[in-house]
This record gives sequence, C-alpha cells and structure tokens, in this order.
Amino acid sequence: METKRDFLKKLSLLTVGGVVAGSASTVAASNTSNPASAAKKKIGLQIYSLGKELTDDVPGGMKKIAQMGYSTIELAGYGNRKMGKYEVGDYRKICDDAGLKITSSHVNPTERKYTKENAAGIADFWKRTVEDHLKFGVITLVQPGMPQMETLDDVKMVCEVFNTAGEISKAAGIKWGYHNHNNEFKQRISSETEKPLAPKPGDFFRPKGEIVYDLMLKGTNPDLVFFEMDVYWTVMGEQDPLEYFEKYPKRFPVLHIKDRLVLGESGMMNFENIFNKAYANGLNEYYVEIEKTKEGMTQFEGVKGCIDYLLKSKFVK
Ligand code: MG
Repeated sequence: METKRDFLKKLSLLTVGGVVAGSASTVAASNTSNPASAAKKKIGLQIYSLGKELTDDVPGGMKKIAQMGYSTIELAGYGNRKMGKYEVGDYRKICDDAGLKITSSHVNPTERKYTKENAAGIADFWKRTVEDHLKFGVITLVQPGMPQMETLDDVKMVCEVFNTAGEISKAAGIKWGYHNHNNEFKQRISSETEKPLAPKPGDFFRPKGEIVYDLMLKGTNPDLVFFEMDVYWTVMGEQDPLEYFEKYPKRFPVLHIKDRLVLGESGMMNFENIFNKAYANGLNEYYVEIEKTKEGMTQFEGVKGCIDYLLKSKFVK
C-alpha cells in the first residue's frame, strides 16, 4: 500500500532541488541583520503565528516583528468589531507606529452551515466587517474557516455566499478571499444522493466525486473571490500546489507560506518552485505562518527563523 511518504515523494514538490533549498545547513549562511536586504523584500506575517506571545504585549511585539524585517501583517483575532481589547483605530496606530502595514485579515462569520435563511445575515456581517477593515487599511479580507458542505447544493450555497461577500468587499475596494486547510482536498462530493461505494477486498478504494476545493474554485466568480492558498495544508491534503497554479493560474494572488515547523527545515516543501510559479502567475502578497515551532523555541524565534530563510533565499524577490 502506498504510504503518505511515498505519495509525497511523487509530488513535484519533492525534487532534489527542493530538499537542497530546504536543508537546514544553508540557514547558517543567512545575513538577516542587513536592513538593506530586508528593505528589498516585502515579507508578510500572519500574526496568528505568535499567539499569546504577541497578545500579551502588542506594541512591543509589533516592534519586534518589524525589526526582524517583516513589512506587512495579516490579522487574526478580529471579532465583535475589535481586535482583542483594542479598538480598530488604536490597533492600527500601534502597527503604524511599529512601521508595519496591515494588509490583510482573517475573519469567519459565526455560521458554519450556509442556508437561504441565514445568507442575508452573513452578508450583513461582511458589511460591518468591511467597514471596520477600511479603517485598518487592508487590501484583502480572507475567510480561513471551511463552511459545512455535504452535497452539491451546499457547495452552491457556499459559493453564492462567498460571491456576495466578494461583491460587498469589492464595492469598498477590498479583495475577498478564502484560505484552505487540508479538508478541502480530502472531501469529495459527487451528487446529492450518491454514497461512496464500499471497497471490495483486494480492490483499491477509488474516491468518488470531485475535490471540494476544485468545486469552490469553479463555483465562485474569479472577479469576486480569490484563493489564499496555504501551500503546506495543500501538501498535507496530498495535492501539489504547483498543479493548482497550473490549472487555475490567476486564482492565487496571495499565499500562506508555511512548512511543518520553521520554513525550509522539513525538506518537504519546495519553496523555490512554489515562489517561481507563483510570481509567474502574478503573486501580490504572501504571509509566513507557523503553528508549532521547534522544542525549546519561542514563537517569536520561530517567526524569526522563517524570515531569515526567506531573506537568504535568492528565489524570494
Ligand atoms: Mg494558513
């Protein structure tokens, strides 16, 4: 039986080039204290990466982020028309003072199942959210949570709600997008009534239906909805980001640059191929993201390790 490792080996991401580019030995060559090299590269950070280490001291933390060389941030944590304990304007001022530009924000409506009945309420939620995000000065607003989808009708409803959110945002000059994890690739939907067939002994189980991520790409209006691909979660969904870039070239203007832990250290992500192809397709923004970091390392140290990797990587412009 094919193991996950075998599968990942087959992906074009796991070329020799990727492993070399990602080897930990090259990290030592980094020279990240050079402000000139930091100034040339516009590198963003999803602030979720820092968790409590940032929320404990937002002004101090934002300064640290800027000092590392990050220039833009994507928010996580907006809710009830505030950012944690801060009013929108106050939070923006802290970031401005640190020299960081808030260019994006992750926000989820409270509903997980979209229906004809709650669609208008969700649209109102996006109107309020857009209003506040104009004050943050973002260029994109992104939903990171996957709504519930079991049937093709559910997918249709989700795409409708997404298109409406995109329309509301676009009217205010903000682009609206969707961020994936791995479930979008693991779940397939064929029709409302069809049930997956049980595999027969000795038979390979062939999943039926289409990958939900593809259904979302096809069901949404490209002028209203973009996709902020999280390249790590795509690989964890056993798919190759490069194949998606090839298949839907203009849909991924923003990326989440993520690895298992600190960028470039697992050797499983060929960031050189990812960046090259993404630039060719018109990449505008990207945000570094980490969840866990290495044993004994703080989140701030992990986030620093990530930007050091990008600053020393020639393929990052
Ligand atoms: Mg992500």
